Order: sequence, then C-alpha cells, then structure tokens
Amino acid sequence: MSKFRRNEEHSTRGLVVRTGFVELVLPRRCAGCGKAGERLCRQCRKLLAQPPRRIAPKAGVLAPVYACGGYGGPHREVILEMKERNNRAIRPYIAAVVRAAVETLQARGEFSHRVVLVPAPTRARSARLRGGDPMTQLCLGSGFPVIEAVRLAPVMPDQSALNRDDRLHNVRGNVQLLRELPPGVEIVVIDDVLTTGATLAATVDTLIYAGADVAGCVVLAAA
Ligand SMILES: [Zn+2]
Repeated sequence: MSKFRRNEEHSTRGLVVRTGFVELVLPRRCAGCGKAGERLCRQCRKLLAQPPRRIAPKAGVLAPVYACGGYGGPHREVILEMKERNNRAIRPYIAAVVRAAVETLQARGEFSHRVVLVPAPTRARSARLRGGDPMTQLCLGSGFPVIEAVRLAPVMPDQSALNRDDRLHNVRGNVQLLRELPPGVEIVVIDDVLTTGATLAATVDTLIYAGADVAGCVVLAAA
C-alpha cells in the first residue's frame, strides 16, 4: 500500500469518528421549535423571514426602529440559543435574518446603500464570558460592513436587576463612543431584543452627538 493510500484511509477513519461523536453529543434539533431534523426548520425560517416592521419604543429613539418580530416563538428561541446557550451553529441563520431585514429596508428606500452596521453595546464582562459579543458576530455574518463603535460604560450596574424606569435613567449617558466613524456612511444600529429601547436610545444619542448619520435601528425581536 502506498503512503498516500494509508493517509487517506487514516483521515477517512478520523472523519467517521468525529461525525459519530458530533451526532452523539448534539442531535440536530430546530433552534426555533425543538423539532428533530434541521438546525432551523422550514416553518421557523418562514416565521423569521417576515419583513421588518416599524415600532415605537417606550424610550424615545432619535431614529426609526424596525423589529423582525415579537419576542416569542422562534424569534425568542433562536436569540436564547445564540446568547444564553452559546449555540454558534445558529449564528449564520440569524445573520441571514439581519441581512434580509436590512436589504428589505434598503429596497423600501428607508436605508441607503452606504449602510454600516453598528452592534448595540453589550456589557463587556458578559460578552467575554460567552466568548465574544454575539451581536458583533451576527453583524459580521450578515456581510455588511461593521464598526464596533460603542460600548457601555464599564461601571454600569447590571440592567437585569433594575426595573423599567431605572433602566432608562441608568443607560442614558452611559454609552461611550469607542472610535470615530468614517464620513459619508449611514449607520444602522443592530440589537437582539428591545424592551424599553433605552439602550438603543442612548446608543443613537451618542452616535448623533458624534456627528454620525443614523438611518435607523433593526432589532431581532421587540418584547
Ligand atoms: Zn422550527
């Protein structure tokens, strides 16, 4: 047997073992509804592909906000899969939803073709614990240019421990600009879940104050 032949055989065996392992540990289930089979079933894909609609967040956001859906069903499940369960395999599917939403808004004339995506800020510590900021990864996966332009002030207390009104006061003024934005681009802020809209409002404030042209915000789900 030639040397080449042996190598081929070895690598084939390795693949079989690896495939067997993956199937054993991670049986494929739809991230949206739990049905066995695909990573995201056809029905959930269809629900996620709804065109974005304009919403009016409680916190006044100085740019139009569009939601890909409500915070329930497959929208909620895929976000939890990505963020809380760190399911990286689902990211390309959600990135495709972001891409489709931005392209739809471009086609409708709401956004221009000069858009640059800015991921809404995530608390640095929780992002590190999850191995990188999932919103940034999503934006990058969408294929549009991305600038990580903002972050939350490091001292900010955990938002989840606060009620709605406190969240509004807590976030305003706590979003910091990380870098200058290039001239001539149109900014679209991307976030996963919108509750009061306080984080988006503060983010848009900061970007506008820095002289940016903010065309709008797209959120995956609005609670
Ligand atoms: Zn499904």
